[in-house]
This record gives sequence, C-alpha cells and structure tokens, in this order.
Amino acid sequence: DGATFSPAVVVGTGYGAAVTALRLGAAGVPTLMLEMGQLWDKPGPDGNVFCTMLSPDQRSMWFRTRTEAPLATFLWLDVINRDITPYAGVLDRVHFPNMDVYVGRGVGGGSLVNGGMAVTPLRSSFADILPGVDADEMYRVYFPRANAGLGVNDVDPAWFETADCYRYARVARESARVAGYGTAFVPNVYDFGYMAREDAGLVPKSALNSEVIYGNNHGKRSLDRSYLPAALGTGHITIQTLTEVRSIERQSGGGYLLRARQIDPYGSVVADREIGCRYLFLGAGSLGTTELLLRARETGALPDLSPEIGQRWGNNGNIMTARANHVWQPTGTVQSGMPALGIDHRADPANPVFAEIAPLPAGFETWVNLYLAITRTVERGNFAYNPATGRAELRWGPEQSQPSVASAKALFDRINAANGTVYRYDLFGHNKAFADDFCYHPLGGVVLGRATDGYGRVRGYPNLYVTDGSLIPGWVGVNPFVTITALAERNIERVIAEDVLR
Ligand code: FAD
Repeated sequence: DGATFSPAVVVGTGYGAAVTALRLGAAGVPTLMLEMGQLWDKPGPDGNVFCTMLSPDQRSMWFRTRTEAPLATFLWLDVINRDITPYAGVLDRVHFPNMDVYVGRGVGGGSLVNGGMAVTPLRSSFADILPGVDADEMYRVYFPRANAGLGVNDVDPAWFETADCYRYARVARESARVAGYGTAFVPNVYDFGYMAREDAGLVPKSALNSEVIYGNNHGKRSLDRSYLPAALGTGHITIQTLTEVRSIERQSGGGYLLRARQIDPYGSVVADREIGCRYLFLGAGSLGTTELLLRARETGALPDLSPEIGQRWGNNGNIMTARANHVWQPTGTVQSGMPALGIDHRADPANPVFAEIAPLPAGFETWVNLYLAITRTVERGNFAYNPATGRAELRWGPEQSQPSVASAKALFDRINAANGTVYRYDLFGHNKAFADDFCYHPLGGVVLGRATDGYGRVRGYPNLYVTDGSLIPGWVGVNPFVTITALAERNIERVIAEDVLR
C-alpha cells in the first residue's frame, strides 16, 4: 500500500464535510472523503439497516460491550441498556471528566443519529457569536441555501393537532401555556409527509417506531440522502469508509500527507494508508477536527498552529430534564421520534431558553415529558493533549454546567408550580432531575476568526481548512446543524473562488 494522491481530501462526512465535497465536486475538483464510520446502506438480518431504540443490537453503538443511552434507567431500573457485541455502530458517546459528548459515526456523521431539528438561529444570537461574519449575507444567501440543500420541511399544523404521535408535544405545550410560556413549531429534515403516511398505516414506520438515536430506517433526509448523493453525482467524489485519519503532516511540495487506519466493521485493522493531497479540509466534527489539529501541533508535525486550537469549546448550553404529568394527561404510547415543537423563551434577555419537547418513545404510557433545553451559557472548556494516549482531553469542571442547570430549572420550576407537577428523578442516574453531564451539541475548538481566518483557513498553514462545528464558539442558542451547514456553504464558496480555481 504505497501513498495515494488526491487533489483534495475531506476528513469526515458530516455537515461541513458534505457541503464542502459537493461544492468541490461541482467545481470539478477530484476529492476523496475519509470517514471512520460505515456506509449505512446494507440491511441486517432483520431486514433493516438500523436497529431500533427499544431493542438495540451491535449496530447501535461504536465499539461497546453495552449500550450507553442518554436515559440510563426507568423507575431507577436498569431496563434501557443492553449488552452488545463490539462493532462499528452508528452512535458514539465520547467520555470526558464531567461531560460526555454524543456523536454520529458513519457516512453522514451526526445526521444519521440526530433528531433532525433544523433551526435557523435568531439573527441577534448569530451576530453576537460570530461578529466577523456578514449576517446580512448569511440570512439572505447561505441560510436559505442550507435549508434547501438539507431538505428542511414544516409539520402541517392541522395534522399535528390530531396526530396521536404528537400528543406528548401538545401536553407539554399546554403545561407551558399555563405557566405563561409560548411554543414554536420546529422545522425538521424528517419528511413530515412520510410521517403522516406512517400514522395512517400506509408505509413502514420509522419515526413512529422509536427510531432516532441509533438511526432512522425511513423518512429522514440525513446527509446520505441530500448533500452526499448530490456530491457523488458530480462524478468527482470518492468516499472511503472505516478509515480513520490519525495524523497530518506537511509535504515538501506544499501539500499535506495523511496517515489513516482502515478497519473492518469488527475493528480488525485492514490496512494503514498514506494519502497525499494539495487541499485538506477537516470536517471531522468539533471533537475530531480539534483532536487532529491539537495532535499535529503538540507532536510537532504542524508546530506553527495557533495556541487558539483546542480553546473555546462549549456544549451549546444543553440540559435534559423530565417532568411527570398528571394521570389525566397521558403523553401517548406511540411518540414520534422526531420533535416538532419547542418552548420558545429565547426573547427573554435575562434567561433565554429554547427547550425542545423531546419524545420518550417507551412503547407504553409514561405520562412523562422529556426536554432538551438549550440555555445560554458563557462557560467554555478547552482541550489538552495527552501524549501517553495521543488523545485530546476535554477540560470541563462540574461547576461549569451549573449556570445551565439554573437556567433550565428557573423555567421548569415555573411550569411545575403552575401545573402542580414534579420532576422525574429516575431517568438520568444519580437521582438527578437535570442531566448536566452529557451533550448532543459539541461546538468550538477551532474557532472562526481566531484559530482560522474569517473563512476557515487554518492560520499558519496554506491550503488547510476547517469546515465543521469546531468553527462555532461553543454556543448558538438553537440546534446547530443548519448553522454549521450555512457557514460551510459560505466558506467553501470563497475558498474555491480564491484558493482553488485561482
Ligand atoms: P459531524 O456530523 O459530527 O461529522 C463528523 C464526521 O467525521 C463523523 O462522521 C465522524 O465519524 C467523522 N470523523 C471524526 N474523526 C474522524 C477521523 N479522525 N477520521 C475520519 N473520520 C472522522 N443538531 C441539530 O441541529 N438538530 C438536532 O435535532 C440534533 N439532534 C442531535 C441528536 C443526537 C443524538 C446527536 C448526537 C446530535 C444531535 N445534533 C442535532 C447535533 C448535530 O448532529 C451536530 O451538531 C452535527 O452533526 C455536527 O456536524 P459536523 O459537520 O460538525 O460534524
């Protein structure tokens, strides 16, 4: 296996990577995408590509002997997680002290496992976090482009009011209303038309079959059904799976040399590969991209990388919590895995919160409402390189989650008081009402305008770019993938015009 060469290489296949590959391919640039996870297109023995949340198997998680679901227990019982065979499954939970991070693994990255909520941030929040980016242009050109490319759609409000699978959302809306809080519909990339046909019994069920964090077999326009087929359709893109990039160095001619390891789905090493390229785009996500660059700086491979690499990481203020409703307020035995409504308290300057009304698709009545609250937080972590393990380790103190807990608690205390309801303490382990030790929205580590220039060009290293969530400084106030996609659209347009086609 000698070194191969590709004019452009994109590491990862998530949002930033998929946008970048499509635009490079459309410009005629031969591009190789390297993805450590699998291509999820082959049915397993049960006829489905993905397993469900209620009976997870080896397909669920990335090399684990037991699943690690966000809800640890039910009624304090260990009934949720299952023993599994280690395998290149689709969801990973990366452990750090005081803060675990969930990420998707596979062609499509986080789009394979996420809730599909496709939210454009408030313009004021966007302008605050990235003051160097022309917000006018973003809201005029790139947010619309991202929404179109992702296939974002809205739920039919009339159908929503009658659908059994959104009873949980209507119950949560009513208890919010009693406390004086408003709600807003949340756009999604799940095809709401397909969901209505599931509800009518016309098509195989996916959102209505407890599918979400371990993948959706139908209905969801994940990146492998939107940007990535479009990229492949240019004829200039190749995707190599089960291939993890481990190091980056500079080549004498000016390009980059990558060392990667290819495995089989059970983890045996198939080959160690060396790949040369002229243009290198990092789309390995906040954790993956930050780790690759921190490792390159600390091992001396790319010694001039900025001290800003590894800084300004945040969890987007993620806090999960759950309430028990009264027995006369059932939340439904069949719950759509795709949220469609959020408590929208973003306009409060003192305590802005956007709380997604999440499903608890247990398959039986629970009377529970589950929420993913996105709170505003100024707490940021940073990464340190551990030479013994070769890993980037997140530094995040337990106290750094507490402002977000206080913010969510202020909102849900008021809802509980107004409705005479209580928190559930049995779901997140340690008798906690607020899950403050994991997140779904890792952001930052290689922040735009600090570790890179204003378009994701890594400072100090020509033709090296960052395209993913690591560009966003730790918080965006809503679910992040639309922002990641739109920013990638903006940056790659400039980079192709000024650097690649020059
Ligand atoms: P990612 O999508 O994380 O893609 C990175 C890719 O790079 C992955 O495929 C990974 O396997 C690969 N990779 C990493 N390192 C390497 C390496 N060294 N070599 C090769 N490949 C590598 N956001 C929303 O907006 N709405 C939601 O409803 C929502 N729900 C979520 C639910 C869950 C359970 C999770 C986990 C996330 C959710 N998110 C949601 C967050 C969203 O999915 C992420 O913000 C988004 O995927 C980040 O995009 P990205 O381009 O930064 O990287």
